Amino acid sequence: MRDGYGREIDYLRLSVTDLCNYRCRYCMPEAGVVKLSHGDILSVEEIGEIGAAAVDCGIRKIRLTGGEPLVRRGILDICRLLAAIPGLSELCMTTNGSLLAQYAGPLREAGVDRLNISLDTLAPEKFASITRRGRLSDVWAGVDAAERAGFSRLKFDVVLIGGFNDGEIADFADLTRTHPWEVRFIELMPMGECAGWDPACFLSDEAVLRACPELLPIGAEGVARRYRLPGAAGSVGLISPMSCDFCGECRRIRLTADGKLKGCLHSREEIPLRGLHGDALRSAIRRAVASKPERHRLTETGS
Ligand code: SAM
Ligand code: SF4
Repeated sequence: MRDGYGREIDYLRLSVTDLCNYRCRYCMPEAGVVKLSHGDILSVEEIGEIGAAAVDCGIRKIRLTGGEPLVRRGILDICRLLAAIPGLSELCMTTNGSLLAQYAGPLREAGVDRLNISLDTLAPEKFASITRRGRLSDVWAGVDAAERAGFSRLKFDVVLIGGFNDGEIADFADLTRTHPWEVRFIELMPMGECAGWDPACFLSDEAVLRACPELLPIGAEGVARRYRLPGAAGSVGLISPMSCDFCGECRRIRLTADGKLKGCLHSREEIPLRGLHGDALRSAIRRAVASKPERHRLTETGS
């Protein structure tokens, strides 16, 4: 599918729940989000039907996200249904890693191809503070379990936060010297909980290149510009929604946990898919793609 700006759209990010067992300070309020009632979130079967229709329309990669996807009841059934869709090339998940020790093996068996693990600090006390309730040791136990289950090229997503983890950039990059992992630094976006944060918290990814001047560019993959430390087993990625023309390379659409399709994470326009089937469902998906905005406006509003 091509959108109105000629971009090929083949990637669906699918939120399976709004809920999370963490409360990352930049993402969720201390009290959590208002729980959608059970009937408001898409059922396992509805997710399977929408996934299949999206693949019919040209989606080739689906990423499960949230909230925290591993707190969703029926997550393994969702994975099995989606993995079985003919024509889907990749089923991925982004997780905070807290429950991976228990879920990594079953996720692999259910057909998940790749995992991204979000990890903003390597220091246990800072981890407890940024997530408000997480334990770093749980995430490392999850990483071990994921590797044992056969998830070999793990990606770690690190949100860059000035004054919080900018002193750890080189330590994160060092992980890639011996592990075949990709550590990706993501610019903090001023949305939700962090919209009013001090401007000093919002770092450009140039901070990574300053902290690790020996990084060598090795090309781009999707919205990530990739680098390698000399002789390293893994790589470093920079994802720059704020400072770079990230939107020109965007191939994604997003489905909310209650079944609304959005052309962009930041757009207000949503196309409700619930209750649609067959041609009506496929044409709603194509409409969402056609109306995908050219770019997000986060930098313009300054919000
Ligand atoms: N709970 C899962 C996790 O944390 O990986 C999946 C959902 S979480 C919303 C997906 C990713 O969005 C995480 O890597 C998180 O750090 C990132 N994120 C959340 N708020 C952000 C913001 N304001 N700016 C940049 N990234 C953000
Ligand atoms: Fe939960 Fe992920 Fe948000 Fe952290 S970033 S509160 S883990 S949804």
